[in-house]
Amino acid sequence: KKAIAIMTSGGDSPGMNAAARAVVRTALYEGVQVYGIKDGYDGMLKDDIIELTSRSVSDIIQRGGTFLGTARCPEFKTPEGRRKGYENLKKRGVEGLVIIGGDGSLTGGSLLSKETGIPIVGLPGTIDNDVWGTDYTIGCDTAANTIVDALNKLRDTASAHRRIMIVEVMGHKSGWLAMESGIAGGAEYVLVPEVKYDLDQMCEDIKAQYAAGKRYSIIVIAEGAGDGMGLGKIVEEKTGIDTRVSVLGHIQRGGSPTVEDRMKASMLGEKAALALISGASDVVFGFEQGKVVSINLFDSVNNKKTLDPELVRLARVLA
Ligand code: ATP
Repeated sequence: KKAIAIMTSGGDSPGMNAAARAVVRTALYEGVQVYGIKDGYDGMLKDDIIELTSRSVSDIIQRGGTFLGTARCPEFKTPEGRRKGYENLKKRGVEGLVIIGGDGSLTGGSLLSKETGIPIVGLPGTIDNDVWGTDYTIGCDTAANTIVDALNKLRDTASAHRRIMIVEVMGHKSGWLAMESGIAGGAEYVLVPEVKYDLDQMCEDIKAQYAAGKRYSIIVIAEGAGDGMGLGKIVEEKTGIDTRVSVLGHIQRGGSPTVEDRMKASMLGEKAALALISGASDVVFGFEQGKVVSINLFDSVNNKKTLDPELVRLARVLA
């Protein structure tokens, strides 16, 4: 009987469970056996691999995190480590692997494929939305919604006190999460690593606006663009206006996935399983303009995604 394996790797993101569930159930529907690798590459090396049934993925579509667990595994960055992982798959007759994870995880998968020839299908799983070739990564929508919820609340209290509110959000080296949630949350300024900003000018503008009666200002800063706490000190000094900083942190990683993340993760999971079963390899499935697309795995990990300049412009115009 044909068998495939599935794993989640790198930072967890809401919707990974929905994707894994779709992979498992699609494969079983097609009469293919499925193994689950625990804790990413770490479990692959430690041979922590279990057979999954339809029941194994019951009651998880609504949960954030990943039922398979995830980990960072430095040993997988060596050819010997990858060989060891491969042997654990081979002895079970695993003929293909679905990897749900970010850039680093997919890079690890591309090396495993190159060195051992095992077919790999990747799904972009990260809240950062920083995987090349796809407009969407599993979990980015839930994280953006979590941030917008925080911005709504911070706006109430900022307005009551006439404060400047600085909110540091995740995104690794990408400004996507900051930009998307900044626009949707109505932030006055969105600071991202992709765009240079003039701190002096921003503070001058804020001062003038407060003098004209404005009650609050929200500044969203992507973690890749700088440190929120440090920025808070500078802004308060330069403007003389009471400034508070919120670093949202790992709250952004968790939570029940949104409908969008559940739907897209389910669609990608089905595609991944079907592709692997029909003999595809070295592809990543993602979305472009609302449709599922397949991207070459090596192209995906060797290119850097850029921030949509239209979003940058929109944020500026609407503030
Ligand atoms: P996120 O974007 O959420 O941080 P990620 O998948 O990019 O997720 P990483 O920590 O970069 O997270 O990678 C996860 C694991 O993938 C690493 O612990 C390692 O085992 C493997 N990995 C990462 N980069 C490489 C690489 N260059 N070569 C081989 N394996 C890698």
